[in-house]
Amino acid sequence: MAICEDCKQEMLTAATCTFDHVSIEGVLHRRVWYGSEPSDWGGRSGKRCGDCGVEPGGFHHPGCDIEHCPGCGRQLISCGCDLNTVWCIGSQVVGQLTGRHPEGAEGQGDA
Ligand SMILES: [Zn+2]
Ligand SMILES: [Zn+2]
Ligand SMILES: [Zn+2]
Repeated sequence: MAICEDCKQEMLTAATCTFDHVSIEGVLHRRVWYGSEPSDWGGRSGKRCGDCGVEPGGFHHPGCDIEHCPGCGRQLISCGCDLNTVWCIGSQVVGQLTGRHPEGAEGQGDA
């Protein structure tokens, strides 16, 4: 069992996260869905995301290391864009989410 901290869905069964937009430096961008990455990160195989478990065509759960940044096209978790940790449904800001960890907060929680 792994529950997305942000959409509260079970990651093994949810087809997609509920957040479809992200705010980058104050500008709203549509997220890069699984399978639309600039190269094949697994989405074209028809399998679920190897990291967060969404289906091809779905939006990754925040913090997934497969997700690409719609602003700069690099890997979202390491691209350095300022997301303001705000994710959105359409143009509606949902609030501050937890999936993307602040710099340097990696490496905790391994059981
Ligand atoms: Zn993912
Ligand atoms: Zn989610
Ligand atoms: Zn970026």
